[in-house]
Amino acid sequence: MIVGKNILYIEDNPDNMMLVQRALEARGYTLLQAADGQTGVDVAQKEEVDLILLDINLPDIDGYEVARRIRTSGKSALTYVPIIAITANALKGDAEKALAAGCDVYMSKPINIRELWARVEAFVPTDGHSAS
Ligand code: MN
Repeated sequence: MIVGKNILYIEDNPDNMMLVQRALEARGYTLLQAADGQTGVDVAQKEEVDLILLDINLPDIDGYEVARRIRTSGKSALTYVPIIAITANALKGDAEKALAAGCDVYMSKPINIRELWARVEAFVPTDGHSAS
């Protein structure tokens, strides 16, 4: 059986959530879901997470604050876990703010699936092709 790498997606838009879930599960990843920022921080602290996809516009705390809380949570793995920000307003400074808050890279909405796969696999390669 293939054991997927765990990716946490913090996103309040159900259409984006479903799109990303299908795309990543098709590549063997397991998607953990959080529909608001604080839930995302809680899941990151409780679960083994290999990568985080982070929407910036969330209903409670924004993605910048989520990134700061994840980076300073005290769980050592979260100091280094890759965080990909997904921004709707890359031209309005969201991207720079996301990087300053502790995100590693950013992607612009609408989500391009090929770009998503490439960025995720750059951080978390799938090794699901082994025969065992
Ligand atoms: Mn949103």
